[in-house]
Amino acid sequence: MIGYGERIAVGVSGGKDSLTLLSVLRKILKKSNRNDIVAITIDEGIEGYRDESVCIVENHCKKLEVPFKIFSYKELFGMSMDEAMLRRPSKKTSSCSMCGTFRRRAIDMAAKSVGADVVATAHNLDDHIQTFMINLFSGDIARIGLMHPNPSPIEYDGGLKKIKPFLELYENEIVFYAFNSGIEFQAEECPYMNESIRSDFRTFLNELEKLHPGIKYNCYSSVNRISKLVQNSQQQNSSPYLKKTCTKCGNISNNEVCSVCKTIFLLETQ
Ligand code: SF4
Ligand SMILES: [Zn+2]
Repeated sequence: MIGYGERIAVGVSGGKDSLTLLSVLRKILKKSNRNDIVAITIDEGIEGYRDESVCIVENHCKKLEVPFKIFSYKELFGMSMDEAMLRRPSKKTSSCSMCGTFRRRAIDMAAKSVGADVVATAHNLDDHIQTFMINLFSGDIARIGLMHPNPSPIEYDGGLKKIKPFLELYENEIVFYAFNSGIEFQAEECPYMNESIRSDFRTFLNELEKLHPGIKYNCYSSVNRISKLVQNSQQQNSSPYLKKTCTKCGNISNNEVCSVCKTIFLLETQ
C-alpha cells in the first residue's frame, strides 16, 4: 500500500480507529525512516464534540512526534456542520450524508495541501459492510459499484493514492488494540449521529456476529464480490455513474455536478 519515500497523510478524527492507525503506521515506518507522516484532522464545526477530539489528536501526535494540521468545513466550504444543520431544507437531507460528502472532499483537499502522495483512512470491516447495507436498503445499487476500489486493492483518485489499511479488521479488534496500547480516544458521540441508520446496522450486525462468529467476515467477502460485479456491469453499460469532471469545481464526480457543489448550492439557497 505504501511505496518507498511516499509522504502519507493520515486522517485522524480522535476516535479509536484513526488514532490506532496513526500509531501503527508510525511504529512500522519509524524503523525504515523513509516515509514522512502527517496527521490531518477535519473539524466539522460541531460544538462540544469536535473540540475535545482535537485536543486528543494534538496530544497523541505530540507523543508520536507526528506533525498535524486541522482543516475546517467553515474554511473549506464556507459553513460549519452546525450551520449546515440549521440551513438544511428538511430532515430528508440527513446530517451524516451532508457531513460524509463534505468530509470525503475535505480529506482530499487536506491531503493535497500537505503535499501527500498517499492518504490513509481508518475504515474497518464493520464500516465497510454497514456502508453496503445503507446503499442496499436505500436502493442505491450504483453506489455499491463505487465501493470497489479500482484498481484493487488501492484506489487512485485524481493523482492521490487512497489506502484503507484496516479494511479487513473487525472494529472490536481495533478497540482491543487501542485499550492494550493505552491509546486515549474520544468516547463522546456526535450529537447528530442518531439520524443515521448506520448505528442500527451496527447493532444488528454485532448481534448476528455473536450468534454466528465469522459471519461479518463472510459478508465482507460477498460485499467485495458484489460490488465488483456491479462495477463491471456499469462499465459494460456505460453507466451514468462512471467518473467524470464536475462542471462547477472541476473535481472528479459521478455526475455533471458533484455532490459537494450540489449540497453547498442547496444550503446556500435556503
Ligand atoms: S455522526 Fe454524522 S454528523 Fe456526526 S461527525 Fe459523523 S458523519 Fe458527521
Ligand atoms: Zn463540484
